[in-house]
Amino acid sequence: MAVTTGGPLAVTADGPLTLAGVRDLHRRWLDGAAFDIGYPNAVDFDASMLLRLFDVTLNNVGHPFTPTSGFSGHSLDLEQQFIRELGAMFRCPAEAVTGFVTSGSTEAVRAAMLTARTRFRRRLIVYASTAAHTCVAKLAEELCLPLQHVPAHADGTMDTTALTELVQQRRRGMAVLVVATIGTTMLEAVDDVPAIHTALDAAGVPARSRWVHADAALAGIPLAMLDPASRPGFDIADGADSINISGHKFLGVPTPCGAIVLRTDRCAPPDLTPTYTGAPDLTPAGSRSGHTPVLMLAALRGFGTDGLRSRAETCRSYAVALVELLTAADVPAWRHQDAFTVVFPAPSDRLRARWPLPVQDGWGHVICMPGKPFTRYERFAAEYLTDRRDHGGHPLGRPPAVASDLEDAIAC
Ligand SMILES: *Cc1c(COP(=O)(O)O)cnc(C)c1O
Repeated sequence: MAVTTGGPLAVTADGPLTLAGVRDLHRRWLDGAAFDIGYPNAVDFDASMLLRLFDVTLNNVGHPFTPTSGFSGHSLDLEQQFIRELGAMFRCPAEAVTGFVTSGSTEAVRAAMLTARTRFRRRLIVYASTAAHTCVAKLAEELCLPLQHVPAHADGTMDTTALTELVQQRRRGMAVLVVATIGTTMLEAVDDVPAIHTALDAAGVPARSRWVHADAALAGIPLAMLDPASRPGFDIADGADSINISGHKFLGVPTPCGAIVLRTDRCAPPDLTPTYTGAPDLTPAGSRSGHTPVLMLAALRGFGTDGLRSRAETCRSYAVALVELLTAADVPAWRHQDAFTVVFPAPSDRLRARWPLPVQDGWGHVICMPGKPFTRYERFAAEYLTDRRDHGGHPLGRPPAVASDLEDAIAC
């Protein structure tokens, strides 16, 4: 049996997965980590305390807010606590909190769409900006809901004037679901939920015929650590009916997971008939992980509010410093206020072969995430500047100048 290091994972074609093979996978991850700055995964959450749970099955079939009986291998009580704490963080009235843990943000956005589809009996149009995550279009297609893309400004935020115009053109009697993106994938732009409500008011959509979902996969928790008066409005108190996060992004949980918080008073009454497991079947998935709710709760409690806040502040200060490094060398780099994401003209393919970074419309980005040392971003900046000098600047002259705070962001 030959196990080699480097290159693709070396495991034998048959026979058991060996410890050496597992070590190889681990080493491959560590090797890749030195260049891992393009995607929003925090890497500072220590899950070792929870390893004890990985020799038992935890299956959260059922719903964390409904009683279950006849089945004990679950963590539904901890799942409910996690959703309650998330609800409090997103300023949902305590008596109106419901929700559950999902496999990730895609499943959470799907749950929001399904809930709105049920509430409005399928007479529903979905609106999301062109900068929304690709899962929105995928899910609208899957759920047979018409989707209208709303233009985004050059800075990635939804054009709410265009939203009013598009909504006004809808067929009579159709309800409106707006998926607001709280931290777009490329630019970390934040759609303003109060401005979306103003746009729907202007289009004459009654309050009872609208649903605003906040897809806050990455930026929800870090933004919640800021004074609500000095950040974009995005949470339940700001007018969202539901909101989701990913657990493997800012919280740094080592396996994909997510959660959705919904206002009970906006949901259609659930069918509480128990199934054979003793619990009603209210989540879109059947069997669900009982481990990920515990992992996310442990991250929330382990870091604590102060820890979450200081992690977010560190990321922002790294992003500010990286913008400074690049702009000092005449690169038109910029970031949104409060964002972890630094945007700059797309690097050459040669540099991207070494640093796997996403690019779109001529721009590239890196994301400063908890646990990744600043030296890594410095090393990237040095290589980027050398590459730019050797291969010439990219044709994008200037950053977009749509939002007024952008000039400040560039200046900082
Ligand atoms: C990451 C992300 C998603 C998809 O989340 P998964 O957890 O990968 O399913 C959806 N929306 C936004 C805004 C994201 O950043």
